[in-house]
Amino acid sequence: MSTLILASGNRGKQREFADLLAGSPWQLRLQSEFGVTEAAETGLTFIENALIKARHAAHITGLPTVADDSGIVCDALAGAPGIYSARYSGEGVTDAQNLAHLLHAMTDVPDVLRTCRYVCVLVYLRHAADPCPLIAEGTWEGMVAREPRGEGGFGYDPVFWVPEDHCTAAELAPARKHALSHRGQALRSLAARLTAAS
Ligand code: IMP
Repeated sequence: MSTLILASGNRGKQREFADLLAGSPWQLRLQSEFGVTEAAETGLTFIENALIKARHAAHITGLPTVADDSGIVCDALAGAPGIYSARYSGEGVTDAQNLAHLLHAMTDVPDVLRTCRYVCVLVYLRHAADPCPLIAEGTWEGMVAREPRGEGGFGYDPVFWVPEDHCTAAELAPARKHALSHRGQALRSLAARLTAAS
Protein backbone atom coordinates (compact mmCIF):
# COMPACT_ATOMS: atom_id res chain seq x y z
CA MET A 1 0.00 0.00 0.00
CA SER A 2 1.29 3.49 -0.81
CA THR A 3 0.36 6.36 1.46
CA LEU A 4 -1.40 9.27 -0.20
CA ILE A 5 -2.10 12.49 1.67
CA LEU A 6 -5.44 14.16 0.90
CA ALA A 7 -4.96 17.93 1.06
CA SER A 8 -8.50 18.77 2.12
CA GLY A 9 -10.37 19.46 5.32
CA ASN A 10 -13.76 19.14 3.60
CA ARG A 11 -15.65 16.22 5.17
CA GLY A 12 -17.85 15.65 2.13
CA LYS A 13 -14.79 15.31 -0.09
CA GLN A 14 -12.98 13.14 2.45
CA ARG A 15 -15.92 10.69 2.52
CA GLU A 16 -16.06 10.53 -1.26
CA PHE A 17 -12.30 9.98 -1.63
CA ALA A 18 -12.41 7.17 0.95
CA ASP A 19 -15.26 5.49 -1.00
CA LEU A 20 -13.62 5.98 -4.35
CA LEU A 21 -10.22 4.65 -3.22
CA ALA A 22 -11.59 1.65 -1.28
CA GLY A 23 -9.86 -1.48 -2.59
CA SER A 24 -7.16 0.54 -4.40
CA PRO A 25 -3.42 0.25 -3.66
CA TRP A 26 -3.44 3.70 -2.02
CA GLN A 27 -3.94 4.27 1.66
CA LEU A 28 -5.52 7.66 2.12
CA ARG A 29 -4.38 9.79 5.06
CA LEU A 30 -5.82 13.20 5.87
CA GLN A 31 -3.54 16.24 6.02
CA SER A 32 -5.04 17.07 9.42
CA GLU A 33 -3.41 13.88 10.85
CA PHE A 34 -0.08 15.58 10.15
CA GLY A 35 -1.08 18.94 11.58
CA VAL A 36 -1.50 20.54 8.17
CA THR A 37 -4.05 23.34 8.17
CA GLU A 38 -5.88 24.68 5.12
CA ALA A 39 -3.73 26.62 2.63
CA ALA A 40 -4.87 30.09 1.52
CA GLU A 41 -6.51 29.63 -1.87
CA THR A 42 -5.08 32.67 -3.65
CA GLY A 43 -5.34 31.38 -7.24
CA LEU A 44 -7.93 32.47 -9.79
CA THR A 45 -8.51 29.05 -11.33
CA PHE A 46 -9.27 25.54 -10.04
CA ILE A 47 -5.90 24.31 -11.21
CA GLU A 48 -3.92 27.05 -9.47
CA ASN A 49 -5.73 26.42 -6.20
CA ALA A 50 -5.30 22.65 -6.44
CA LEU A 51 -1.55 23.13 -6.98
CA ILE A 52 -1.32 25.52 -4.02
CA LYS A 53 -3.10 23.05 -1.71
CA ALA A 54 -1.10 20.03 -2.88
CA ARG A 55 2.25 21.83 -2.59
CA HIS A 56 1.42 23.11 0.89
CA ALA A 57 0.52 19.64 2.22
CA ALA A 58 3.42 17.89 0.46
CA HIS A 59 5.85 20.46 1.86
CA ILE A 60 4.72 19.90 5.45
CA THR A 61 4.21 16.11 5.35
CA GLY A 62 7.09 15.19 3.01
CA LEU A 63 4.72 12.65 1.42
CA PRO A 64 2.98 12.25 -1.96
CA THR A 65 -0.16 14.34 -1.93
CA VAL A 66 -3.37 14.72 -3.86
CA ALA A 67 -5.43 17.92 -3.71
CA ASP A 68 -8.92 18.57 -5.05
CA ASP A 69 -10.18 21.97 -6.06
CA SER A 70 -13.77 21.89 -7.16
CA GLY A 71 -16.94 23.89 -7.38
CA ILE A 72 -20.13 24.63 -9.23
CA VAL A 73 -20.03 26.83 -12.35
CA CYS A 74 -23.32 28.47 -13.40
CA ASP A 75 -23.70 29.79 -16.95
CA ALA A 76 -26.30 32.43 -16.02
CA LEU A 77 -23.87 33.86 -13.42
CA ALA A 78 -20.86 34.11 -15.75
CA GLY A 79 -19.30 31.05 -14.09
CA ALA A 80 -19.96 32.01 -10.45
CA PRO A 81 -19.57 30.77 -7.81
CA GLY A 82 -16.78 28.74 -9.47
CA ILE A 83 -13.58 28.70 -7.43
CA TYR A 84 -15.43 30.62 -4.70
CA SER A 85 -18.05 27.88 -4.20
CA ALA A 86 -16.96 27.11 -0.62
CA ARG A 87 -16.99 30.81 0.36
CA TYR A 88 -19.77 32.12 -1.91
CA SER A 89 -21.67 33.84 0.88
CA GLY A 90 -18.60 34.67 3.01
CA GLU A 91 -15.71 33.08 4.92
CA GLY A 92 -16.53 30.29 7.39
CA VAL A 93 -20.12 29.87 6.20
CA THR A 94 -22.16 26.66 6.02
CA ASP A 95 -23.15 24.70 2.92
CA ALA A 96 -26.77 25.72 3.61
CA GLN A 97 -25.85 29.42 3.53
CA ASN A 98 -23.99 29.06 0.23
CA LEU A 99 -26.86 27.12 -1.27
CA ALA A 100 -29.40 29.75 -0.19
CA HIS A 101 -27.15 32.45 -1.68
CA LEU A 102 -27.06 30.59 -5.01
CA LEU A 103 -30.83 30.12 -5.13
CA HIS A 104 -31.28 33.82 -4.43
CA ALA A 105 -28.82 34.82 -7.19
CA MET A 106 -30.71 32.55 -9.62
CA THR A 107 -34.25 33.63 -8.65
CA ASP A 108 -35.05 35.40 -11.93
CA VAL A 109 -33.21 32.96 -14.18
CA PRO A 110 -35.65 31.00 -16.38
CA ASP A 111 -35.50 27.19 -16.43
CA VAL A 112 -33.74 26.88 -19.81
CA LEU A 113 -30.88 29.12 -18.66
CA ARG A 114 -30.22 27.30 -15.36
CA THR A 115 -27.44 25.15 -16.84
CA CYS A 116 -24.41 24.52 -14.63
CA ARG A 117 -21.62 22.04 -14.09
CA TYR A 118 -19.54 20.71 -11.28
CA VAL A 119 -15.80 20.89 -11.98
CA CYS A 120 -13.08 19.00 -10.15
CA VAL A 121 -9.35 19.38 -10.72
CA LEU A 122 -7.05 16.93 -8.97
CA VAL A 123 -3.33 17.51 -8.61
CA TYR A 124 -0.93 14.78 -7.54
CA LEU A 125 2.56 15.75 -6.38
CA ARG A 126 5.28 13.20 -5.57
CA HIS A 127 6.92 15.85 -3.37
CA ALA A 128 6.58 19.60 -2.82
CA ALA A 129 9.10 20.54 -5.54
CA ASP A 130 7.77 18.01 -8.08
CA PRO A 131 8.07 19.79 -11.47
CA CYS A 132 5.79 17.28 -13.20
CA PRO A 133 2.48 17.13 -11.31
CA LEU A 134 -0.17 14.69 -12.52
CA ILE A 135 -3.33 16.66 -13.24
CA ALA A 136 -6.79 15.23 -13.87
CA GLU A 137 -10.10 16.97 -14.42
CA GLY A 138 -13.74 15.93 -14.35
CA THR A 139 -16.92 17.85 -15.20
CA TRP A 140 -20.55 16.95 -14.55
CA GLU A 141 -23.34 18.80 -16.39
CA GLY A 142 -26.56 19.65 -14.58
CA MET A 143 -29.15 22.35 -13.89
CA VAL A 144 -29.72 24.51 -10.81
CA ALA A 145 -33.05 23.39 -9.27
CA ARG A 146 -35.44 25.96 -7.79
CA GLU A 147 -35.49 24.40 -4.33
CA PRO A 148 -33.36 21.92 -2.37
CA ARG A 149 -34.23 18.21 -2.44
CA GLY A 150 -32.54 15.19 -0.85
CA GLU A 151 -30.35 14.43 2.16
CA GLY A 152 -27.26 12.82 0.60
CA GLY A 153 -23.98 14.26 -0.65
CA PHE A 154 -22.80 17.66 0.51
CA GLY A 155 -22.44 21.27 -0.61
CA TYR A 156 -24.71 22.22 -3.52
CA ASP A 157 -25.96 18.65 -4.13
CA PRO A 158 -29.56 19.39 -3.00
CA VAL A 159 -29.92 21.94 -5.85
CA PHE A 160 -27.79 20.17 -8.48
CA TRP A 161 -30.41 18.67 -10.81
CA VAL A 162 -29.25 15.56 -12.69
CA PRO A 163 -31.31 15.48 -15.90
CA GLU A 164 -30.65 11.83 -16.78
CA ASP A 165 -31.77 10.59 -13.33
CA HIS A 166 -34.62 13.11 -12.81
CA CYS A 167 -33.47 13.95 -9.29
CA THR A 168 -30.90 16.06 -7.48
CA ALA A 169 -27.37 14.87 -6.69
CA ALA A 170 -28.43 14.72 -3.02
CA GLU A 171 -31.05 12.10 -3.95
CA LEU A 172 -28.59 9.78 -5.69
CA ALA A 173 -27.16 6.69 -3.99
CA PRO A 174 -23.44 7.33 -3.28
CA ALA A 175 -22.34 4.74 -5.87
CA ARG A 176 -24.43 6.44 -8.55
CA LYS A 177 -23.02 9.85 -7.64
CA HIS A 178 -19.47 8.46 -7.87
CA ALA A 179 -20.21 6.93 -11.29
CA LEU A 180 -21.40 10.27 -12.71
CA SER A 181 -19.61 12.91 -10.71
CA HIS A 182 -16.82 15.31 -11.56
CA ARG A 183 -14.78 13.88 -8.66
CA GLY A 184 -15.38 10.26 -9.68
CA GLN A 185 -14.30 11.02 -13.25
CA ALA A 186 -11.20 12.93 -12.17
CA LEU A 187 -10.13 10.31 -9.65
CA ARG A 188 -10.56 7.41 -12.07
CA SER A 189 -8.45 9.30 -14.60
CA LEU A 190 -5.77 10.10 -12.01
CA ALA A 191 -5.74 6.52 -10.67
CA ALA A 192 -5.18 5.15 -14.19
CA ARG A 193 -2.21 7.46 -14.66
CA LEU A 194 -0.78 6.66 -11.23
CA THR A 195 -1.05 2.95 -11.97
CA ALA A 196 0.63 3.39 -15.36
CA ALA A 197 3.44 5.42 -13.74
CA SER A 198 4.15 2.93 -10.93
P1 IMP B 1 -12.82 23.85 -2.31
O1 IMP B 1 -12.57 23.12 -1.04
O2 IMP B 1 -12.30 25.23 -2.36
O3 IMP B 1 -12.42 23.02 -3.51
O4 IMP B 1 -14.41 24.04 -2.39
C1 IMP B 1 -15.23 23.15 -3.02
C2 IMP B 1 -16.68 23.60 -2.81
O5 IMP B 1 -17.40 23.34 -4.01
C3 IMP B 1 -17.37 22.77 -1.73
O6 IMP B 1 -17.29 23.39 -0.47
C4 IMP B 1 -18.79 22.73 -2.23
O7 IMP B 1 -19.46 23.91 -1.88
C5 IMP B 1 -18.62 22.71 -3.74
N1 IMP B 1 -18.53 21.32 -4.24
C6 IMP B 1 -17.47 20.68 -4.80
N2 IMP B 1 -17.78 19.42 -5.11
C7 IMP B 1 -19.06 19.25 -4.74
C8 IMP B 1 -19.92 18.11 -4.78
O8 IMP B 1 -19.59 17.01 -5.22
N3 IMP B 1 -21.15 18.33 -4.29
C9 IMP B 1 -21.57 19.53 -3.80
N4 IMP B 1 -20.81 20.60 -3.71
C10 IMP B 1 -19.54 20.47 -4.19
